[in-house]
Amino acid sequence: MQTFLELVRIDSPSEHEEAIGNELAARLAALGLEVERDASGNVLGRLDSGKPDGDWLLLNAHMDTVGKDRGITPVIRDGVVYSDGTTILGADDKSGVAIILEVLQVLEEQALPHRPLEVLFTVEEETNLGREGRVDLSLLRARQGLVLDSGGPTGSYIISAPSQDKLVVTVHGRAAHAGAEPEKGINAIRVAAEAIAAMPLGRIDHETTANIGVIEGGTATNIVPERVMMKGMARSRDDAKLERQTATMVRALEEAAGRHRATLDIEIERRYRSYRVAEDAPIRNKVEAAMRRLGLEPLPTASGGGSDANILNHAGIQSVPLTTGMADVHTKQEHIAIADMLACAKLLLEIVRE
Ligand SMILES: [Zn+2]
Repeated sequence: MQTFLELVRIDSPSEHEEAIGNELAARLAALGLEVERDASGNVLGRLDSGKPDGDWLLLNAHMDTVGKDRGITPVIRDGVVYSDGTTILGADDKSGVAIILEVLQVLEEQALPHRPLEVLFTVEEETNLGREGRVDLSLLRARQGLVLDSGGPTGSYIISAPSQDKLVVTVHGRAAHAGAEPEKGINAIRVAAEAIAAMPLGRIDHETTANIGVIEGGTATNIVPERVMMKGMARSRDDAKLERQTATMVRALEEAAGRHRATLDIEIERRYRSYRVAEDAPIRNKVEAAMRRLGLEPLPTASGGGSDANILNHAGIQSVPLTTGMADVHTKQEHIAIADMLACAKLLLEIVRE
């Protein structure tokens, strides 16, 4: 808990991870790990077990926090850590970082035997998850991993997650004097509004969601608006459904633009790709066996969001996210129960000791 409280006080909004990266590299080195940084600033530590044919296990968490919040001040009430209400807490994902550091410290203090471990603390998980070259995964020896970056009750862990398409759309209308000659204008806000109203959004089905999250446009009440920019996304754990959903959103835009003779720039980017870890995958067996030894009921769960597990699984490093207990993440109400963090640390220790 001490480690967690110290880490959340170190500002680390995405793309500003220099200070936290230096701190974590120093902490890993102090715990006896061999530490390197890749070109993006990710921190990679290695702790060999001394066994010749060790089966390397990756422990991963991201060191950036969502949004731009700085000056996070943790407050503890009734065994639960909150922010002071003016910022996020950053349990996403400092709780994962702290739990990994705690387990490494226990291994060292008690000189416990363990699997050879690789620790990867990443940058820009919240903003650039699937960016080419964001993490140099070729440095990793592990073929299995645990991603400490999920919420949910103790015992829950993620076995599948969606792909995401990001849409950036510009609607080009035509400006005109709104009082004198509105007929000459093409109202880009009207086109955007009609398109959005025609789009299926929110929860599409049990594994597909969509959202328009940003809209900007217009300059004055007396000018027919010339331009609207909007950003949105669609996600699905089924790639065919994702393609259909994205196409439906594009069609709504094209139809609205066509009715008003507006033009469109549409950029679609596959931000990251879905994964599903099979029931008989060794990493799932390890996690569930450790849970049962601790008297926990395994709760394999399908997720609606992406994480480093998406890129790890696609690189052939079979990985599942574990719950750290983080809750209401990406909001000022974000919090985490100390008991849940402790349960996660005990589970992780049990898994790495085998
Ligand atoms: Zn996260």
